[in-house]
Amino acid sequence: MRSRFVAAVVAGCLTLVTLVLAAQQGQTPPTQTPPATVQRGQGTGAGTGPVGQFQGRGGRGGGPVTIKAARVMDGRGNVMKDAIITVQGSKIVSITQQAPANPIDYDLRDATVLPGLIDVHVHLNWYFGPDGHYGSRGGALAGYQADAIQRNVRDMLMAGFTTVQSVGAATDKPLREAIAAGVVVGPRILTSIAQIMGGNNTPDQLRERVRQVKAAGADLMKFFASGSIRDGGKMDVTQAQLDAVCGEAKALGMRSLIHAHDPASIIASVKAGCTEIEHGVFADDAAIKAMADAHVYFDPNIGLVLQNYLENQDKYFGSGNFTAEGFAAMQAALPLQPVMFRKAMAAGLKMPMGTDAVAGAHGQNAREIVARVAAGQKPMDAITGATSLAAESLNLGDQIGTLAPGFEADIVAVNGDPLQDITRLLHVMFVMKGGGVYKR
Ligand SMILES: [Zn+2]
Repeated sequence: MRSRFVAAVVAGCLTLVTLVLAAQQGQTPPTQTPPATVQRGQGTGAGTGPVGQFQGRGGRGGGPVTIKAARVMDGRGNVMKDAIITVQGSKIVSITQQAPANPIDYDLRDATVLPGLIDVHVHLNWYFGPDGHYGSRGGALAGYQADAIQRNVRDMLMAGFTTVQSVGAATDKPLREAIAAGVVVGPRILTSIAQIMGGNNTPDQLRERVRQVKAAGADLMKFFASGSIRDGGKMDVTQAQLDAVCGEAKALGMRSLIHAHDPASIIASVKAGCTEIEHGVFADDAAIKAMADAHVYFDPNIGLVLQNYLENQDKYFGSGNFTAEGFAAMQAALPLQPVMFRKAMAAGLKMPMGTDAVAGAHGQNAREIVARVAAGQKPMDAITGATSLAAESLNLGDQIGTLAPGFEADIVAVNGDPLQDITRLLHVMFVMKGGGVYKR
């Protein structure tokens, strides 16, 4: 399965290269798969570590690139007016209000520039099958699958998401590598490679499973402590199973993300030493206090995932637990989310922004930021949640999520001021990742 996917990715890349060459020669490429709009020459910005795997594209002959805008938000709550960012290779070298010696490459005028957005919970390999239904995806050609996955990552990058965490599938690994090599257009990827289920596994078997995903190249560990929201979301594992997966992940230096909806599963996950709780629709005061006391990250997905399922009900209906009861459960959970979110905010929980983006939702990730503001979060805090705080939750807080000298040049821009109108973030008009411009 994996080798077929690699072959498909390579085939897709060749198509992409052909299209780019065609564009450079002044020909009109086919419209259904637009080529990467990477501008500028190949730079020398390759670094080290998970971020530096990407080969940055710098300025002419490796020279600096300058971006000017009315507002520069640093991702940590600060705004600089009429600022100029200078990028060299894949890194930011300065942010200043002084005009530089060299000309401005990108004068974004009344735009607001922000760090590249980060989504800490996506599913890259979810797509609708050839007949438009989720249930038919399994029978699709490998090439169809590869195209759909490449579209998902492209849509997210074009929407301003320069880093995403996928939780996770085996196909993420070749995709992560193809993007890092610069041959597929998409955000930086961190992935759990697999989703570990408790089932009847003994603690020893689960520890072995964690070691397997680590050996396979996982950046983090993902485990389910409760059922799906469509099945009631009740805890369906033991404390011993949770202790095993979270303990083993910690011993291997991996973060652990736990799917948990009900208070019992959240409290047990926190007790097991997990890093981050996902979803938490039914989190009560005790569950919120447990997360706050343990300084565990909480990623409540309140703005996109359930809404997207409901908007695409006809495409999901009939597959697995996407039944009438399942949809009724999701509909019933919708009004609980903003209430739970406000309680979590009041408790001071650290909430990096994740969407749980599935088929139909990729590229609409910023709806989560808009939903947080609609639920009462300050716009600047919602932006921090999708930038520096999200980066911190990935242990990449010193490399991405902040606009400052020395950080990766992951830079996006929107027209106007998102502090006045948060929906501006739904319309990102400039995207730079690792010093390469992908959208202008
Ligand atoms: Zn998920």
